[in-house]
Amino acid sequence: MITVRISPPQVWRAKQSLYKLAATKCNRCGNIDVYSSAFCSKCGSNEVSSINLSGNGTLIFSTKNFQQRAGYEKSMPQFVGLIKLDEGPEIVAPLTDVDEEPKEGSRVTAVLRKLTVDSSNGLIEYGLKFKVISDGP
Ligand SMILES: [Zn+2]
Repeated sequence: MITVRISPPQVWRAKQSLYKLAATKCNRCGNIDVYSSAFCSKCGSNEVSSINLSGNGTLIFSTKNFQQRAGYEKSMPQFVGLIKLDEGPEIVAPLTDVDEEPKEGSRVTAVLRKLTVDSSNGLIEYGLKFKVISDGP
């Protein structure tokens, strides 16, 4: 089972890449790393440029996630998908607006969704989820 846990400090640090699909592309080998990195994960080059991904991709598989941190129970269980983005990289991300297991090969697109409301300070946390836009073949 795949579990995705994000702590508030991680959300803050990853803000740039959480609210839009930021990535880096290696100028040397062309490899794309999701979530900005100073080095290419493939060849180690530091000649990387920031790019924004389209947010469109294909669902490789999904799994139901029953484990969730406190405050997120309302959205349980939640589907989590392994998504191959059109630009090439594969990422694991929560799926939204799905009632039953989505078909493998479905086309998905990234949308901004409310993740939780912190009742102690009223802060609303947003994050990217993926929505199925058409069923697979
Ligand atoms: Zn590279």
